[in-house]
Amino acid sequence: MTKVFFLLSVLLSPYFLLADGHIFVYHRFDDTRYPTTNISTKELRKEFNYLKKHGYKVVPLIDIIKKVNANEEVPSNWVAFSIDDGFKSFYTHGLKVFKEYNYPFTLFIAVKYTEKNYKDYVSWKQLKEISKYGTVEFHSYGHGHFGQMSNQKIKADMDKGLALMKQHLNYEPTLFVYPYGEYDERVSSIIEPYGFKAVFNQNIGAVQGVCSDANDIDRSAVVGSNAHDFKLYLKFQELCGVTFQQPTTYPKNKIVKTVEVTLEDKSIKSADIFISNNGWTKVKVHNGKILWHANKKVKLNRIKIGVKVKSKIKLMVLSK
Ligand SMILES: [Zn+2]
Repeated sequence: MTKVFFLLSVLLSPYFLLADGHIFVYHRFDDTRYPTTNISTKELRKEFNYLKKHGYKVVPLIDIIKKVNANEEVPSNWVAFSIDDGFKSFYTHGLKVFKEYNYPFTLFIAVKYTEKNYKDYVSWKQLKEISKYGTVEFHSYGHGHFGQMSNQKIKADMDKGLALMKQHLNYEPTLFVYPYGEYDERVSSIIEPYGFKAVFNQNIGAVQGVCSDANDIDRSAVVGSNAHDFKLYLKFQELCGVTFQQPTTYPKNKIVKTVEVTLEDKSIKSADIFISNNGWTKVKVHNGKILWHANKKVKLNRIKIGVKVKSKIKLMVLSK
């Protein structure tokens, strides 16, 4: 009886159905000059103790990505750590705490800072030592605002950084973080051919093995003095299993005539559809299909069309 009950409770548990892993971002350690990107090692220990006490498992970042790429659930007690930019304070202060707890981490470096020996950043030699305990991955060469750089400039920046990593660390990175977490469709389309196993943003959120897009993984920054800043309560926000059938290109004459969407979940009876400049409209769903003769006028050259079911949303963007 207990076995059946256990099985049922596992199957019905939201944690089982909506398993969400979490990826966190740190920048500086014990560096009070920059409070908005700093964490004290005292706080870090507090946070690590919190995770330990509550049964969280700290895994290498790549383990979460493997699950996403295999379309498998990420266990909801999985947590991974990333550290951005390659500040020296990670080497001088943070690293010892990670070693103490035997927690894996991934350091994303902006190569220029290391290559040019900026004094606040880790050296190539220190990176070699760091890579004994965690992995070193890629965060661009010059940490520029990709959204404002030409295609050519972005490519040149990427190529330069990757070549230097290969030269100094004999390593070809498989993971990438957008500088400043900034990206749009153009930027993603330039990064995609590099074939990273995953690309990360810095939007607060969680990772859902079946739903998450490996080219757009959310991470939450952790700063401040509260273990609850971990935001472990966060769930993956996007609506899963949505295919937009129509429209698939920017509408002619700026009129969205028909919205046609397929939902994997056939039990859904109603949804809300969003069209830029027109807000939300409630629509019926029949056997997982939405067919709505919208005839809505849009004004923007870059519009969004979205589907919402029970507060989860999936959006797509169409540009002129
Ligand atoms: Zn950065």
